[in-house]
Amino acid sequence: MKNLLVILDPAHGEEISGKRSPDGRHREYKWSRERLRVIEHLLQVHGYTVVWTNTTDREIGLTKRQNIGTQLAKQHPGLVPLFISLHNDASGVTPEWRQANGVSVWTSKGRTTSDIFADFFIQRISEWMSTVNRRIYSPAYLDRDFESDFTVLMGDYPALLIECGFQDNKEDVARLEDPRFCKQVEDWIVDSIEDCNNYVSRKVKK
Ligand SMILES: [Zn+2]
Repeated sequence: MKNLLVILDPAHGEEISGKRSPDGRHREYKWSRERLRVIEHLLQVHGYTVVWTNTTDREIGLTKRQNIGTQLAKQHPGLVPLFISLHNDASGVTPEWRQANGVSVWTSKGRTTSDIFADFFIQRISEWMSTVNRRIYSPAYLDRDFESDFTVLMGDYPALLIECGFQDNKEDVARLEDPRFCKQVEDWIVDSIEDCNNYVSRKVKK
């Protein structure tokens, strides 16, 4: 019996412009939903309760994601919610190839449980994706500079936003298109969720 309610929040809808590689080959909405569907299956096999903010390919808006997350958390009062958004990063708005690359994990503002959960994700990145650059999180990462104002992270539940690879970096897009890399991302997220659940289970037993 797991203690977490995993709320999966796919990236922007297919109709949102710019959420693709400069050559149009890579599409964030599709990549995010494909990964989350596999992650959902793996988590269910592990005994988790998994729910979605949005099961369509369309955009529902950030406020709606947040409200749905709050509702879903209320519907499962016995479980600790963990809201996970999965995106690809971009370092510019015009479609050009750029330098920035790597993976980052964003948390809700202030010192919250999401910081503790994010730390499990950060610790596990190098284990699954040794070739990928990651944001270096020193103890200062608990400070506000490293945290996000994304609306979707401001609900009443621990929330993480994962920016996995840059859609405007050639090397990252090659990784995102590689099935082995995608499998590593899926396993990384599932293992990190297991760490979060183990942490919550220890707290509940005390
Ligand atoms: Zn995005």
